[in-house]
Amino acid sequence: MSIKITEECINCGACEEECPNQAIYEGGKKWNMSEGTYLKKNFYFDQKPIKEDIYFIVSEKCTECIGFYDEPQCMIVCPVHCCVTDQMETKEKLFEKKIFLHGN
Ligand code: SF4
Ligand code: SF4
Repeated sequence: MSIKITEECINCGACEEECPNQAIYEGGKKWNMSEGTYLKKNFYFDQKPIKEDIYFIVSEKCTECIGFYDEPQCMIVCPVHCCVTDQMETKEKLFEKKIFLHGN
C-alpha cells in the first residue's frame, strides 16, 4: 500500500520532515521525483501540486517507509490520524520502488 492524506489534515507539517522519500508536500507546492531521492533532477520536471489547501503525498514516491523504518512514519506522527492507507501495493512492489528511488 501507499499512504494518502485525508481532508482532516490540519496543515501542521509534522509529517513532511519525517518522510525518508520526501514524498510529502505542503498544499500548493510543486513536487519533483528527484527531491529527497537519488534520481537526477535534470531528468524530472516539477509537477503541479496534487492538493492546494492541505498536505499531500506523492504515491509514486511513497514506499510506506520500506527500507528505512518498520512503520509508516507519517502515520505515527500525524496528530489527527489523517494519514491512511490508500492503494494496494505488495511489499515487493514497494521495495522495488525504494530501489528505483534510492538505489541499493
Ligand atoms: Fe513518506 Fe513513509 Fe509516509 Fe510514505 S509512509 S509518505 S514514505 S513517511
Ligand atoms: Fe496534515 Fe497530519 Fe501531516 Fe499534520 S501530520 S500536515 S495533520 S497529514
